[in-house]
Amino acid sequence: MNRAYEVIIIGGGPAGLSAGLYASRARLSTLLIEKGIIGGQIANAAHVENYPGFPDGISGLELTQAMHRQAKKYGLETVAAEVIGITLNERGKVIKTTEGEYRAKAVIIAVGAEPNRLGVPGEEKFLGKGVSYCATCDGPFFKDQMVAVVGGGDSAVEEGVLLTRFASKVILIHRRNRLRASRLLQERAFANKKIEFLWDTVVEDILGPDRVRGLRVRNVKTGDRSTLEVSGVFFYVGLHPGTDYLRGLLPLDEEGHIPTGEGMETEIPGIFAAGDVRKNSPRQVITAAGEGATAAISAEKFLSE
Ligand code: NAP
Repeated sequence: MNRAYEVIIIGGGPAGLSAGLYASRARLSTLLIEKGIIGGQIANAAHVENYPGFPDGISGLELTQAMHRQAKKYGLETVAAEVIGITLNERGKVIKTTEGEYRAKAVIIAVGAEPNRLGVPGEEKFLGKGVSYCATCDGPFFKDQMVAVVGGGDSAVEEGVLLTRFASKVILIHRRNRLRASRLLQERAFANKKIEFLWDTVVEDILGPDRVRGLRVRNVKTGDRSTLEVSGVFFYVGLHPGTDYLRGLLPLDEEGHIPTGEGMETEIPGIFAAGDVRKNSPRQVITAAGEGATAAISAEKFLSE
């Protein structure tokens, strides 16, 4: 495989795939590097209903597979590898990966974000044994069982509603008494008889011993502790970008997001960022796609200067 490209895109979610479509359609030699499955986080979503053009919704996998096919049609190449560092030299940018080094004149970082761990005892031990971060992937294993969802954002509420297709009951545990999720999702959750809300409550411990059998929870207002008998717990307590390897190269905010200008440019000429990894990104599929396209247009301009 060629090791030198005009544009290298890191990350194969909607931002990276849109950047790939725009860059390859601009006839720039373009490589997309993805460490996991092409499609990113949204590929796990059973139903995406706010991507314009699909009035009946579309599965995240179908949507991202179509994005990939479209970009490939114009010549986008992809490689499965994990990026471990980027360095700069007089010939451009060197991208170090688990599969060797690649060189590019312009780089678009679109690595998205990964689910946060809550950090409670049992979380690692019972991963895949009742602890999950993906209701679409693992929901069917909990048919007619009681499960808990932790968090109060769009993900927790949306995935909580999805889980009611399988589980006998979903207990949504939130640390405050008000959801952060959008109104539409809240309405759906409140109307769903299978969802019970546990407000002002945090999880302190996941109980085993062999797999998840329950949760020890604490009411943050009263301090009361109780035990919930559930066979699964789904955590949706926010996302963080996996950008540790960029520290020292680019300025990052505390959580690791990359600040950019309007054209998705970073502080380093020829390096752009798009999608959930970007500071202040609205973190929607449609905005990620738009940011990816913008980054590719900016990269094209950079290359022609
Ligand atoms: P989020 O919006 O950051 O929400 C995280 C939730 O976890 C919050 O309710 C937060 O509580 C809670 N939380 C955080 N740390 C916690 C801790 N240590 N202990 C207990 N609870 C904790 O994350 P998200 O729901 O994954 O959404 C991420 C982005 O994707 C958002 O911009 C969202 O709009 C977008 N999204 C959109 C859709 C859609 O459009 N259909 C679907 C999914 C996600 P507090 O509320 O108290 O802070």
